[in-house]
Amino acid sequence: MRIQLLPSTFDAQGVATLEQRLTCFVIDDCVAVDAGSIAIALNGEQRNTVRDIIVTHPHMDHVASLPIFIDDLYPSLQEPMRIYATEEVIGLLERDVFNWNVYPRFSDLKNDYGPVMEYIPIPVGEPFRVAHLNVVAVPVNHIVPTVGLVVSDGQTSVAFSSDTAETDDFWKIVNEMKGLDALLIEASFPDRMSKLAHVSRHFTPASLGQELKKLTHNGMDIMAVHLKPSYREEIIEQLKALNIPKLKAMEPGRVYEW
Ligand SMILES: [Zn+2]
Ligand SMILES: [Zn+2]
Repeated sequence: MRIQLLPSTFDAQGVATLEQRLTCFVIDDCVAVDAGSIAIALNGEQRNTVRDIIVTHPHMDHVASLPIFIDDLYPSLQEPMRIYATEEVIGLLERDVFNWNVYPRFSDLKNDYGPVMEYIPIPVGEPFRVAHLNVVAVPVNHIVPTVGLVVSDGQTSVAFSSDTAETDDFWKIVNEMKGLDALLIEASFPDRMSKLAHVSRHFTPASLGQELKKLTHNGMDIMAVHLKPSYREEIIEQLKALNIPKLKAMEPGRVYEW
């Protein structure tokens, strides 16, 4: 399975920066998990192949350029953009984003080929199919309804925590899996900001270190994501100090293969 955390910004030479402001992962060039930077950082090929987007929650950093992406492709879409989310999240997207005030309600619109956007409500705790992937969504502990995901292609399995603080259901599903090849988990704030991390339901390296004690698999890569750009170096130093094997910060723009 190939996974890329899309970059959010580019320097004056057009080279991706390591700061992650927006969240969008692309799996095997065809499935996106969240869509923060989807319209600004997909390559030309991926713009033609990504048609399935799983939205974990409606926070702006996870959906910022989703409306722009659909808008850009509007005349050329020969199949609808499929948006997979829980019923609750679909309701929030319709109410707060695709509401004719912030952006058109694309789910009501058609181009010459047919509908341009379709919601696919997803269950929690039950497997469902997205393109060639088997996915299980699990509610996590964030300030809006949010799911973590376990994604398998039959050979490789990867777990995404998405935005979360301390949680148990996610670990239960992850630990029940036969094998795990990689864990992508958030570490948003440095330890000195634990109060803000707590009220906004995010991890610091210290609270992540505690949380990872719930994980019973070992040996897999653990990629920290969602590092707030202003504190990136500080968070990375604190992650290193945890001395957890194979824990490192995921680099936006780089393609990882598991
Ligand atoms: Zn969030
Ligand atoms: Zn976020």
